[in-house]
Amino acid sequence: MSEIICTRCGSTHCKKNGHIHNGKQNHRCKDCGRQFVMDNEQKIIPEGIRCMILKILLERLSLRGICRTFSVSLTWLLSYIVEVYEHLPADLNVKPVNSKQSGLTISEPLHISFAIII
Ligand SMILES: [Zn+2]
Repeated sequence: MSEIICTRCGSTHCKKNGHIHNGKQNHRCKDCGRQFVMDNEQKIIPEGIRCMILKILLERLSLRGICRTFSVSLTWLLSYIVEVYEHLPADLNVKPVNSKQSGLTISEPLHISFAIII
């Protein structure tokens, strides 16, 4: 049997601590208190897929459709959208455009808009 090692501190003083929602064995470190599951299957979305999803988001497709197409969860997609928004400038690069005919100042359309259709 392989030895259980804490994912935070590397200690081998760990004990079983029940099961998580999908039935996998949960462990708890006696030294630092960290709870963890060995061999968790956290899916890493490759950078290429992230770039494609970013382009698809600009096409205003439904979020669930994007999830089905790229086999990502809606939870991950929503957190990715939040991550993208956090890196955008506060003014979204909107520059005022002067209208010569009416003398009014209007703004260009936003470069990025996401459809929230679930
Ligand atoms: Zn620990």
